[in-house]
Amino acid sequence: MSEAVPKIVVVGGGAGGLELVTKLGKKLGKKKKAQVTLVDNTHTHIWKPLLHEVAAGTLDSHEDEIEYLSQAMCSGFRFRLGKMDGLDRQNKKIMVAPTYNEDGLEIIPRRTFDYDYLIISVGSVSHDFGIKGVRDHCLFLDTTKQAEFFQNQLLESYLRAHTQGRPLDEGQLNIAIVGAGATGVELCAQLYEVSHLLNAYGLDEVKPQDVKLSLIEAADRILPGLPENISAAAHEELNELGVQILAGERVIEVTETAIKTQSGRDIPAAIKVWAAGIKAPEFLKDIDGLETNWMNQLVVKQTLQTTFDDDIYAIGDCCACKWVGQDQNVPPRAQAAHQMASLVYKSIINRMKDKELPEYHYHDYGSLVSLGRYGTVGNLMGNLSKGSMKVEGLMARLMYLSLYKMHQVALFGPFRVMMLSLSHLFRRSVHPKIKLH
Ligand SMILES: Cc1cc2nc3c(=O)[nH]c(=O)nc-3n(C[C@H](O)[C@H](O)[C@H](O)COP(=O)(O)OP(=O)(O)OC[C@H]3O[C@@H](n4cnc5c(N)ncnc54)[C@H](O)[C@@H]3O)c2cc1C
Repeated sequence: MSEAVPKIVVVGGGAGGLELVTKLGKKLGKKKKAQVTLVDNTHTHIWKPLLHEVAAGTLDSHEDEIEYLSQAMCSGFRFRLGKMDGLDRQNKKIMVAPTYNEDGLEIIPRRTFDYDYLIISVGSVSHDFGIKGVRDHCLFLDTTKQAEFFQNQLLESYLRAHTQGRPLDEGQLNIAIVGAGATGVELCAQLYEVSHLLNAYGLDEVKPQDVKLSLIEAADRILPGLPENISAAAHEELNELGVQILAGERVIEVTETAIKTQSGRDIPAAIKVWAAGIKAPEFLKDIDGLETNWMNQLVVKQTLQTTFDDDIYAIGDCCACKWVGQDQNVPPRAQAAHQMASLVYKSIINRMKDKELPEYHYHDYGSLVSLGRYGTVGNLMGNLSKGSMKVEGLMARLMYLSLYKMHQVALFGPFRVMMLSLSHLFRRSVHPKIKLH
């Protein structure tokens, strides 16, 4: 490769980053018009909105994960494993921490990568708001590893209860989820389904009613970010499933056995999940003088360039971008990351042709919340619906599934996605509905 071609480095191959690097690789990398590099601290990608299914065991992460090296080979970019932990804007370099194996042996030393254009798309992690005991006693769903860990814990708890040869202790299989946004609500519905599936697959000493699910939310209703009618529909459905919904309850402490709220409640729980808010990774805070907000997000202009450095872009959950016409920033959603990836792709192409840069305007197409086999509810936004329109049932389910299909199409193209969907259907017909080990 000639030295003269620009070096484009994308850090974070998630919902936004992997789509972006795939497009750039195909357009520029393959034709040797640029050197396109993806840096990620894991070997594989899984679309994050699937993580609650991985946690519940209704999805085997290995079925849906994508090897970065393979995607890189097919799409014309390079993949480099490592965790970015620093930035040198003056010399246009990113710093990447050493990588260690499971025994603690260093396999890749600390290194740096030069860039002409840098796109940071490292997503977000759970925000514990400094609440006592959360880090020590809660499980999180930020990464595939954490979701798999959750699934292991769940299965172990069931196996223990199934084989202990005596009635269950009080609260032995209580599960409390803090945060009733889409993640918490969807996980709750999945866990209800799992309690029935595990019983059907033979762990029948545990009855579905032995599993007590609680959903705790500080706002006065579940799904506070969605219109009230959607929230009410989800509330009604979960209520019918027997989920204890505690809205308007602010958590002040988590202990090994319970969740304590400001109103004085003590909710006993053996398994506790924290899904109550997000922030960008800590290393971004004021990184080499870039502007960040209280959530560590990089503040960006409408072009998605960071406010103090035009050669550095930020997209997805890790950026703070104004939502034009609204009194808030663009929400941390997969659809926003997807749209931002498309915009930065155009922006880089335009820059290489000395053309004007496009500006980002978030298009909210609505939100869908899956309650597993018990339904899907959501709202559609846009011209077609003249504002917000409630959708539910089969139509909502199909639209929910199409979100993931759109991500897959951006990565593989429509034909391969059709083949993948077919093979998925065949696999489903011979595999159990839940991961059992
Ligand atoms: C359980 C769950 C359910 C959700 N459901 C929905 C939904 O239904 N609809 C919706 O719109 N949104 C949903 N979301 C939110 C959605 O997943 C995120 O908004 C979206 O994934 C953000 O995309 P991103 O590209 O910014 O980051 P991510 O997709 O999180 O990707 C970040 C990538 O950066 C990598 N990375 C992180 N730090 C570093 C580092 N220091 N160096 C190198 N690489 C790094 C990570 O390994 C990862 O690959 C859900 C989230 C969760 C957790």
